[in-house]
Amino acid sequence: MARVYNWQLGRDMSYWYPEARPKAQFGAVFDVNKCIACQTCTLACKTTWTSGKGQEYMLWNNVETKPYGYYPLGWDVKLLDMLGAQDWKNGKYDGRTIFESAPAGQRVLGWRPGQNDYAYPNVGEDDCTGSVDKGAHMTLPHMNWFFYLARICNHCTYPACLAACPRGSIYKRPEDGIVLVDQGRCRGYQECVKACPYKKVFFNPMTGTSEKCIACYPKQEKGMTPQCFANCIGKIRMCGRISRPEDARPDNPLDFLVHVKKVALPLFPQFGLEPNVYYVPPLQAPAVFLQQIFGPGVEEALKTYLNASKDPDLMGLLTLFGCTEQIIPRFRREKDEMVGLDEKGSELIRVPIQEPAYIRQALDAARGVLSTNIP
Ligand code: SF4
Ligand code: SF4
Repeated sequence: MARVYNWQLGRDMSYWYPEARPKAQFGAVFDVNKCIACQTCTLACKTTWTSGKGQEYMLWNNVETKPYGYYPLGWDVKLLDMLGAQDWKNGKYDGRTIFESAPAGQRVLGWRPGQNDYAYPNVGEDDCTGSVDKGAHMTLPHMNWFFYLARICNHCTYPACLAACPRGSIYKRPEDGIVLVDQGRCRGYQECVKACPYKKVFFNPMTGTSEKCIACYPKQEKGMTPQCFANCIGKIRMCGRISRPEDARPDNPLDFLVHVKKVALPLFPQFGLEPNVYYVPPLQAPAVFLQQIFGPGVEEALKTYLNASKDPDLMGLLTLFGCTEQIIPRFRREKDEMVGLDEKGSELIRVPIQEPAYIRQALDAARGVLSTNIP
C-alpha cells in the first residue's frame, strides 16, 4: 500500500497505488434541490449505452429517493455498517477508509450484490420519513422529508474498482481522469463490482466482462456534456474539470462551487475515494443525516445556498446549469447576466440571472376578450 493525500479527508491515507493525478479531472456538480426524479437522465443513458444483451439490469445513471431508495438494494447502508465509526474532527476524517479497513489479503473492504439486490431499482421511491397526517401534505414546511439523489460513476481520484482489479484492466485516462474498463483485458472476476462502494460497475453475463459509466467521453472530446447532463429536465447538472483546492480557479464553474463557495460536497467522502461528483445538499433533510452522506461541510453549504440570492456570482452560476449542451470551462458575470466562456474566453452562452416575468392583463382591450381564465 502507498501513502497518498486525500484533500476531502484532510489527511494522508493508504491506497494500493502511489498518487498519480491526471492532467485534468472530469468533475460535476448536481444540485439536489432541483431534481424532480423524472428519470430522463436514466433513460438518456440507458438508450445510449446499455440497451444490449446482458445490460438489461444496468443503470449507469440512476436516481433514488433517500432515505429509503437504493440501487442496488442497500448499497450505502450495508457498507456504512461494515465500516464502523466514521468520525470527523475539525474537518479532518478520524475514521478508517475502505482501503484502510480491507480484510487481510484483500485490497478493499466491499461486498458484491446478488441478483435480487438489482431487482428493485425504484424501491422506496417517493417514500418519506414517518407518517403524514391527513391534510399535512398541504402544509409548509413539511414535517417529513425525502429527496432525490441522482448518481453516476464518480470517476474517483482513488478508484476502488481500479485498486481491486487483479488484472490491471481498469485505468484512469491521463487527459481527463475518466475511469474505464479495458474490455480486452477484463476476465470478469468482478473484484471491481465488489470494491466500488457506489456500486457503479456492473457485470455483463453475456460478455463475461465488467462495464461502467464512461462519462460519454466521445461527446466530451467534442466539448459536449454527457447524455445525462444534456437531457436533464430539472437542469440540476453542471460538468467540467475540477482542480485540487490549491489550484482552484475562481472563473472555473466547478472550482468556484466546490472550492471557493464550498456549496457542493462529495458523496460519502469517508469511503476515501475522493469522488469527483459533488452535490448541493437538499434543504429539507436533517443535518445529521446529510452529514453522514456529504461530510462535515453540510451546514455551511446550506447556509451559502440559502443566501445565494444575495450573491450574484453564485446565483448567476446556478442559472448556467443545463443551459447549453456545451461544456462551460469558464464563466464571467456581466452586470445582470452570466456568461459561459470557452477555454480561450470566447462566449458560449449568456443567460439573465433573473428571468424577466411578464404579467398579462386579464382583459385584452384590443380584442375585447378575457385572455386568461382568472380575471
Ligand atoms: S464510482 Fe466506483 S466505478 Fe466509478 S471510479 Fe469510483 S470506484 Fe470506480
Ligand atoms: S433528468 Fe435531471 S431532474 Fe430528471 S431525474 Fe435526472 S437528474 Fe433529476
